[in-house]
Amino acid sequence: MEPTTRVELEEVRAAVRELCARFGGEYWRACDEQRRYPEEFVAALTEAGWLSILIPETYGGAGLGMREAGAVLEEINRSGGNAAACHAQMYTMGALLRHGSEEQKRRWLPEIAAGRLRLQSFGVTEPDAGSDTTQLRTVAERHGDHYRIYGRKVFISRVQHSDLLMLLARTTPLERVRRRSEGLSVFIVDLRTAGERLQVRPIRTMVNHETNELVFEGVEVPVEHRIGEEGQGFRYILSGMNAERILIASEALGDGFFFIDRAVGYARQRVVFGRPIGQNQGVQFPLARAYLNLEAARLARDRAAERFDAGQEAGTEANMAKYLASEAAWEAANVAMTTFGGYGFAVEYDIERKFREARLTIVAPVTNNLILSYVGEHVLGLPRSY
Ligand SMILES: Cc1cc2nc3c(=O)[nH]c(=O)nc-3n(C[C@H](O)[C@H](O)[C@H](O)COP(=O)(O)OP(=O)(O)OC[C@H]3O[C@@H](n4cnc5c(N)ncnc54)[C@H](O)[C@@H]3O)c2cc1C
Repeated sequence: MEPTTRVELEEVRAAVRELCARFGGEYWRACDEQRRYPEEFVAALTEAGWLSILIPETYGGAGLGMREAGAVLEEINRSGGNAAACHAQMYTMGALLRHGSEEQKRRWLPEIAAGRLRLQSFGVTEPDAGSDTTQLRTVAERHGDHYRIYGRKVFISRVQHSDLLMLLARTTPLERVRRRSEGLSVFIVDLRTAGERLQVRPIRTMVNHETNELVFEGVEVPVEHRIGEEGQGFRYILSGMNAERILIASEALGDGFFFIDRAVGYARQRVVFGRPIGQNQGVQFPLARAYLNLEAARLARDRAAERFDAGQEAGTEANMAKYLASEAAWEAANVAMTTFGGYGFAVEYDIERKFREARLTIVAPVTNNLILSYVGEHVLGLPRSY
């Protein structure tokens, strides 16, 4: 893979901005109010090939890297849209790409790249495990040429708009493994054929994010749908998490710059006490501070993406980028709310919608506390805090 030049990266950004311009605030507000999946937007993005840019050319994708993928998601969110409706397809396939067999890659990746198959769901979180993934209880029991899955997952997104689900389940009981990260395996579950043994219960959240509780009551998964070796799934999932964190950081940056763009525009034209509110230091300085924190987070994201694309270890950088970008976006969200005064609460300005959406990146896919623990332990060498 040849990294794109700065000019080419700007072309990616410009093309995504152009596509997003067809889906303005009215479109996203309607989706939000009706709790509707942005089907038209996802279809347009897929058709333009943006969702498959991380898939290598051999399998029908564009074979680009994290810098470009990050730029796509950042621009979507900066335009006022919400990339969370479809972002998982970009990184979920990473485990398949890196650890799947050639046969599995040939079967699924070209179909995903062509937009005929959606791999939008990623099932890890459980009600009783939470952030402590190694404690998950969903089991996959081997019966000859297939596994049967039993258990519960919670907050599993886009299940109703995906064909495939990448699932992490336990194949060896916790008490029989040497290390708690062992004994977990990754499966591709075909949601189209899961039938009544998979119950999907939507969870209504504060954002328009199609997320669900899943109850597995013996869902059958063929052995050839297991990715890599049995028992090594946690390692495969972890390797994909760096990509996920860099991409979520990019979305958070997009949110943050959206707030700054809108709030600066408003602060210039809103006149109170005979002058634009942006002339007051009380309004201007918080905007400037939020902007420079976003720019610093952008550098952290760029560094993480560059290391990832160069095949270097990027765990620390990906975690730090996700933390810094989500915190900077949340700061910008609050500053925009304040700058808009009462109008920040009026739905038609899109600030309150993006305010709700931006809050999620502090919690998911990993909470910022867990990132602080990571840095404390792995960077600063302090004792493990959990
Ligand atoms: C809208 C939405 C969509 C989601 N989509 C998906 C999805 O598609 N797939 C999926 O698998 N998951 C998904 N999630 C789940 C998300 O990844 C989890 O909510 C998140 O990882 C936190 O887990 P938890 O909610 O169980 O919190 P908990 O683990 O219960 O943590 C609760 C709080 O305690 C803190 N805490 C816990 N332990 C420690 C500690 N040792 N030190 C310091 N603080 C600690 C946490 O930081 C957090 O603030 C989604 C969540 C939401 C809200």
